[in-house]
Amino acid sequence: MRFPSPATILRTLYAFSNATLHRAPGPFTNTTGLRPTTALRSISMPTIPFIGAFFSTAESRNMSHPVQKSDSEWQAQLSPEQFRVIREKGTEAPFTGKYDKHHPEKGVYACAACNAPLYTAKQKFKSGCGWPAFYDTVPGAVTRHTDRTFGMERTEIVCSNCGGHLGHVFKGEGYPTPTDERHCVNSVSINFTEDEAGADKSKV
Ligand SMILES: [Zn+2]
Repeated sequence: MRFPSPATILRTLYAFSNATLHRAPGPFTNTTGLRPTTALRSISMPTIPFIGAFFSTAESRNMSHPVQKSDSEWQAQLSPEQFRVIREKGTEAPFTGKYDKHHPEKGVYACAACNAPLYTAKQKFKSGCGWPAFYDTVPGAVTRHTDRTFGMERTEIVCSNCGGHLGHVFKGEGYPTPTDERHCVNSVSINFTEDEAGADKSKV
């Protein structure tokens, strides 16, 4: 059963989260884990850092990934849009990413921040959701975290090598794939190369 369609949910979510971010900027906006109305009301309260820490879903930032860089180092390396998505867990607009409708026969999608191979071309499928979708990953390349932002519970996916935000993974949507999972990944978080063997060589 599909109710409502995944694409509808995602479009709604994107529109909502974008509006929320515009109304309530700040370092903890993405990590309060509160219901939207509460989060908006609380944004001016001095306790927000505590609330943010208590309900934080940014544990991926604190986990030890092999590649560790400061925000200023990442800013120097990444484009502003990449930094917003990869390091600040943002979301690119649906149907705009360069890999949304990209379906090569072979190749690998590597982390745009550290070049670790994350997904193969064979693992990509047409979901129609507006972002690149993969049903599986390069083994061990992607780590999952519970994300309770925006009053809902989702599973965030990050690059295991550098902790960079990729997107979210959804299960049981009924897609005819071997895993029935959809890794919904921002195009700016990944770089495609046709050379599957060479993809790992330039890993940071
Ligand atoms: Zn990475």
